[in-house]
Amino acid sequence: MKIDPSHFGFPEFSAGSVWLVGAGPGDPGLLSLLALHALQQADEVIYDALVDARVLRLAQTGAVLTSAGKRGGRPSPQQPDISRLLIARARAGSRVLRLKGGDPFVFGRGGEEALALEDAGIPYRVVPGITAGIAGLAYAGIPATQRGANSAVAFVTGYASSGALPADIDWHALAKGAPLIVVYMAMNHLALIAAKLLEAGRGRDEPVIIISKATTPQQRIVELDLAKAAAGAIPADIEPPALVAIGRTIRLKGVSA
Ligand code: SAH
Repeated sequence: MKIDPSHFGFPEFSAGSVWLVGAGPGDPGLLSLLALHALQQADEVIYDALVDARVLRLAQTGAVLTSAGKRGGRPSPQQPDISRLLIARARAGSRVLRLKGGDPFVFGRGGEEALALEDAGIPYRVVPGITAGIAGLAYAGIPATQRGANSAVAFVTGYASSGALPADIDWHALAKGAPLIVVYMAMNHLALIAAKLLEAGRGRDEPVIIISKATTPQQRIVELDLAKAAAGAIPADIEPPALVAIGRTIRLKGVSA
């Protein structure tokens, strides 16, 4: 499919600029038209480990694809190196597409890269993507908000750059204020997270829904409860990436995977 940019009034992808683009959580159908336009214009695509291979295939023929994968527990380029690479390639005159899983600004370090580009005086644009916490829930049949069940939803990360559970999360406030809690990067510390929520007053029988490889053909959903999760009764074979929804939500049964 070719997009006619003039039809939509899309901005020009200028040589020497960087676009920070969200690729969505996996299913290429969830890409925005602007992201597709960028893929068809870019000279270079510098992509994250989470970006689906089917999305990368939409890059124009001849585009240079470079992996700058960051994945917990595996050797990967350091963040300053990635920013330096973006700046160097833009200065060399390329149209540089920085492609990130989900949304670039949701636990994706897009803000750090944008700041580095700003400091270097490189023109850039941000194209939001559908974040895994929204799309994963939808594909699992879980409305992010549901009248009568939850008027608030919280997105948190279960993993700090140190490898520990982030120290700046107020679990009591979260337990009280967010009936539905969506945890990114949750699996390493899931038992601890569940224990903290129980300690903060959440119910032992509250659902903990693990969604692995959301929106891909390998999507898998496992449901347990807070008591089991806190006791560490978590299946060991859940493949990353996975996110976890915690709370008394409804589960729609008619959603096709
Ligand atoms: N910027 C991304 C999040 C990056 S953090 C976004 O907006 O979606 C990486 C975490 O996102 C993973 O550990 C996992 O919790 C979640 N994630 C990303 N893609 C996912 C997918 N397809 N299925 C389940 N979880 C996913």
